[in-house]
Amino acid sequence: MSIDTPDVATAASKPDEKQPEYPLCSTCGSHRVYHDAWASWDPATQDWVLAATFDYVHCDNCGGEASLEWKQGTPDRIAQIRDLNDALRRNSSRTGNLVITAGVTAEGEALIATALKAVAEFDVFTKSNDPHQEHDFGAVTVEGLKLFFKIDYFDKAMEALSHDPADPSVTTRVLTIMLAEEY
Ligand SMILES: [Zn+2]
Repeated sequence: MSIDTPDVATAASKPDEKQPEYPLCSTCGSHRVYHDAWASWDPATQDWVLAATFDYVHCDNCGGEASLEWKQGTPDRIAQIRDLNDALRRNSSRTGNLVITAGVTAEGEALIATALKAVAEFDVFTKSNDPHQEHDFGAVTVEGLKLFFKIDYFDKAMEALSHDPADPSVTTRVLTIMLAEEY
């Protein structure tokens, strides 16, 4: 009995005190962050197991060193939606459709190329321009022109809205780049 008592007390108090946590990149909010670490071979499980972690953290989305911001809870569909949207902005031809409005098209191919680069590199998401943290809307200024980009989620047939934007197998993403005055 004297041995059991402290164990019971610890087990009972732990869930209340320690919520699950997960790290995000403090710059871009992506959950695709990786610690530098050593792994050692475990003959028993026949797999590499974590032996040590080091200070360096890499963000796959920023493509460089990152600092971590810890959130409570578990990574959710918002994080998945955000990562899919970031992927579309950075490589629009491969992960969705791209719509350039008539107003932007009229500015010429050079401006379109510059605008695509600006949209891909945009990372100034704040609580006011990105309240849902989905990275689905933003404003960039290219050669003095104010442009908006937005991302919409349609079903695979492009007939209705996607019922789950976090699931790429049922979603066609559309990135639209427009003049601010066309919004
Ligand atoms: Zn990042």
